[in-house]
Amino acid sequence: MNLKARITRTGAILLGKYVACDGFDEQQPIRVVTHVHADHMLGLRESLKKCEMVLMSEATRDLIDVLKSPLFLMAGNVKTLPYKEPFEYKNEKITFYPADHILGSTQVLVEDQEGERILYTSDFRLPNTPIIRSDILVIEATYGSPRCIRNFEQKAESVLVDLVDRGLCEGPVYLFGYHGKIQEVMEILWKNNIRVPFIVPEKVFHVCKVYEKHNKKLGRYWLARSEYAKELRSKKEPFVAFYHMAARRRFIKEKAYKIFVSGWQFQEPIRQVNEKGFVIAISDHSDFEGLIEYVRKSKPKLVLTDNYRIGHAKILAKEIEKRLGIRAIAVPPTKPKKK
Ligand SMILES: [Zn+2]
Repeated sequence: MNLKARITRTGAILLGKYVACDGFDEQQPIRVVTHVHADHMLGLRESLKKCEMVLMSEATRDLIDVLKSPLFLMAGNVKTLPYKEPFEYKNEKITFYPADHILGSTQVLVEDQEGERILYTSDFRLPNTPIIRSDILVIEATYGSPRCIRNFEQKAESVLVDLVDRGLCEGPVYLFGYHGKIQEVMEILWKNNIRVPFIVPEKVFHVCKVYEKHNKKLGRYWLARSEYAKELRSKKEPFVAFYHMAARRRFIKEKAYKIFVSGWQFQEPIRQVNEKGFVIAISDHSDFEGLIEYVRKSKPKLVLTDNYRIGHAKILAKEIEKRLGIRAIAVPPTKPKKK
């Protein structure tokens, strides 16, 4: 096992001598948070308490402030790093590169004293993520199987816009997704001239504010509990309401169009699940071909596929060896049982 990069059984990605990304590790003085999704914020409380410093992008810090609380990060020594500006720690150099995934997402490059480039992509999708040259590459494996190919990615946006348009003819439309995905859909609808009011609950509202602070255009939105939103609902006026996927059960009796945004769909961009329920395939991860393309262009000597998080790490490692002739291992070797 190459000790310059590892993935621990608690989900920390260790790069070089000092850095642990997305999980806590006793031995590493520096913790990096690559983005705010829950499976990348593992053990953050402990890292804040015990690590010498915790690094993240400015947007990630802003998002943690609203998703946790403004006090949460004050428990530790948090430093924000701009993209592409190397940060030196002892005899190693840490550089963030952007990743197209959720606002604030970063790839992490560690250059050690022997000049080896150790890179962790974290979650990303192509084509808007820069591909970074590496010697040792740790890559996500969410859609790491050849079964996970979406040939309709360009089409999904227009399918979504048409569906929302259709739903609005009958009244309000409810849309469900995860943080980041919701804001991406708002951007798509706004860009495509859907000009009805957007209604959002409190947490989504604050996440939207952070997106706007970082120059994203999301349209005009109101809090779900505002008088204006109540009025729209009582008059049955058209609007689009955006809720976190976890809240979907609360709307089971709602007779409006309901759209669920999910990446786990590969046959077609849209699937009807009941009379007014639809799943739209918009993903913030690369599909299988994107993962392979990243490895090919990054030109590493060794690849570790993330077998801690959800995905197909073992299949991906096998396919990388077969298709590219580059040594690849799924790490950790068995998926740990999670609590
Ligand atoms: Zn993610």
